[in-house]
Amino acid sequence: MTESAKRRPNIVMILTDDHASQAIGAYGSPYNATPRIDEIGQEGWRFENCFVTNALCSPSRASILTGTYSHINGVTTLVTPIDAAQPTFITQLREAGYRTAMVGKWHMGEGEGHNPQGFDYWDVLVGHDGQGEYWDPLFLSEDGERTVEGYATDIITDLAMSWVDGLEGDDPWCVLIYHKAPHRPWEPKPEHAALFTDKIPVPETFDDDYSTRSSSMRRALMRLTENLNMDDLKQEPPASLTYDELSLWKYQRYMEDYLACVASVDDNVGRVTDWLRARGDFDDTMLMYVSDQGFFLGEHGWFDKRFMYEESLRMPLLLSYPNGLAGGQTFDGIVTNVDFAQTLLDAAGVEAHPRMQGHSFWADIRGEATQPRPAGMYYRYWEHDDTFHKAPAHYGYRSERYKLIYYYNDGLGLPGTGPYVYPAEWELFDLQTDPNELRNVYDEPDYLAIRESLKRDMWAEQERVGDKPHSSQPVLVGN
Ligand code: CA
Repeated sequence: MTESAKRRPNIVMILTDDHASQAIGAYGSPYNATPRIDEIGQEGWRFENCFVTNALCSPSRASILTGTYSHINGVTTLVTPIDAAQPTFITQLREAGYRTAMVGKWHMGEGEGHNPQGFDYWDVLVGHDGQGEYWDPLFLSEDGERTVEGYATDIITDLAMSWVDGLEGDDPWCVLIYHKAPHRPWEPKPEHAALFTDKIPVPETFDDDYSTRSSSMRRALMRLTENLNMDDLKQEPPASLTYDELSLWKYQRYMEDYLACVASVDDNVGRVTDWLRARGDFDDTMLMYVSDQGFFLGEHGWFDKRFMYEESLRMPLLLSYPNGLAGGQTFDGIVTNVDFAQTLLDAAGVEAHPRMQGHSFWADIRGEATQPRPAGMYYRYWEHDDTFHKAPAHYGYRSERYKLIYYYNDGLGLPGTGPYVYPAEWELFDLQTDPNELRNVYDEPDYLAIRESLKRDMWAEQERVGDKPHSSQPVLVGN
């Protein structure tokens, strides 16, 4: 360990919106190469089992910032704005002398009480309910609103780097670079738009017939063929296609733009890495690449996220800090977005806020862990039956091998949810024999014992994090 390792690290968190690990080279993408994102993992760690606790933009951002679950931080849906006065890892870092900044897509509400707090500098996308624009985006900062000409992914990177370049003195800094890309409606830069016009491979579960699965999942309006709109597709499909041909045409159109938006992200991640190196800060900086959740890229015939299925549950996470961490490593233990706050605070040598609920993985990646990682993780999706996606409210528990899901199908009157309540349903998947989650084994006799044991684990974790079972939940015997 060098002398400089005693220096507190700078922190750069690059967060993208809806970037599935299936579309990252380091995670074995069959679709695209992402050399600059992959490089972070080569210089440090690639996490194989990083999961989101509520697979939706605003809730994931709130969990990352506060180190708490949705029922604690209050951001359960897309339209439950954050109380920005909550303690966050940013407020803790700032108290400890870090300079702090937030640039890009905030998406946790706008206005008094909801705009970013605890940052020395913040400059965030506004408009379209906080989604922002790809081109000539509108920003809000303490100086008010302004339009910045250009492409959002480039601009967000530029603003973040300029802020750091303007700092004086030796105190460490932390900058959050939160991109809009590759979120819907997938508007690429012209220079990337034609990169993926060759026929894109179709995932194995594209034609999923949903047999053995719940009616809850079948209700979702996330079908590529039926539910993408003209803003998404940007072209009328050719006339006289059969249904199957139309499906494939839409899939191709969707993926071309999605992957082209990712190409710009990869370029801009490279710009940040090169800039850190040029400043001489790369080795002293904790550089993270992560997406706010995963995404369906045609698996189960879907786009979007929300479900506890692997493609949306799984977050890509790559992290480097050469002076503090070994390089070329992979981490298989279970980590979640709730764990990030405490991990970053640990890396900075700053106390976590007592309200934070995660399990820091700093000791794990330093090779200093004194206890094993949690055996599973608790998930809850609250935005039941929203107008556009009709995804069911559910919670569940994922262990290394199994996944238990309880669709309680009730919006509980929360903003953003639909009024209809449907009968509760269960799903259970054995990820070892069925990694694509095509066979619900909840009612199979061979799985009875494991199913009841998973329920107990789920309950225990639900209780530990202070969440409450839905009223429809059957009471466990002998718990
Ligand atoms: Ca998202």
